Amino acid sequence: MSFFIDQNICARCGSCIGNCPNRAIVFRDSIYTVTNMCFDCGTCIQYCASGAIGEGTTRAERDNKILDNALKEKLGIKKNIVAMKFTDKAPDDVPVEEGPHFWCGICGDIFDGDGKPVYFTSEASTCGGITNIGMRAKKASKEEFDAAMEASVIGEGKSYSNKDILAKHRSLFPQFHKAYPGVIIGSLENIPHPDLIIIPINAHQLCMISTAFAFDTGEVIMGHAGPAACLMTGPTPPIDKRPVFAAGDDGGRTFMRLDHAELVISFPYSLVPGLVENLDRTVFAHE
Ligand code: SF4
Ligand code: SF4
Repeated sequence: MSFFIDQNICARCGSCIGNCPNRAIVFRDSIYTVTNMCFDCGTCIQYCASGAIGEGTTRAERDNKILDNALKEKLGIKKNIVAMKFTDKAPDDVPVEEGPHFWCGICGDIFDGDGKPVYFTSEASTCGGITNIGMRAKKASKEEFDAAMEASVIGEGKSYSNKDILAKHRSLFPQFHKAYPGVIIGSLENIPHPDLIIIPINAHQLCMISTAFAFDTGEVIMGHAGPAACLMTGPTPPIDKRPVFAAGDDGGRTFMRLDHAELVISFPYSLVPGLVENLDRTVFAHE
């Protein structure tokens, strides 16, 4: 356990539990305790007037390569895991993707082995859905936008009957307070300290992950089906610090090259060390 609560000092006030951004503190068996989901951020300390929270001797494992290996081995995943990190500008050693490209197409390339990081912006994106993952929208006139929607998305035989129905989905998802100019996207093994990861999984692997995630907290993982793959997987993990699984939309599934048995699950990186630890604590660890 990286951080711990001294039960002799704890006043049971509950101040810490609602202020942990990772929801890593739980109230169980009449005591407040820190779970494996702790990411060592130290935020809770300032909310404990009793001084009961201290740093432990073990730290959360944050090394991306170690976590990437552990997830693949424990879950039996053969494809690459996608990682994304929001930034205001491209780092010197990361090439800028010129486009035109689709975000879901880049994810498909990474899943299938091309995991070198690129800096992806809305300017290089062929898809307006890029704003759903926290990036600024490309400037397009209303006429251009409506023409593109009607050509590919709206109408009989397409995804949505009209524009209002298409827009209706968006109110269900959290909104980014800040939109970034771009995102570094590549395989998890190549991106240290990303903001979120996306793993292609089957139903059995989803069961393993959800069991490990719920082990200490009893929390369930919610899933989405219906709107664009980026909208379903992008905003929730970094904003709400919650994982989410998604079926992907028709186009997104095609570009991500998912087979019929595959879904994707999106995790905030801050929960990944705890997930990896807890995979060894569940019924599935004995397989
Ligand atoms: S994740 Fe941060 S706030 Fe939560 S228990 Fe750990 S150190 Fe405290
Ligand atoms: S804030 Fe401090 S005293 Fe209050 S429940 Fe948490 S650890 Fe205990």
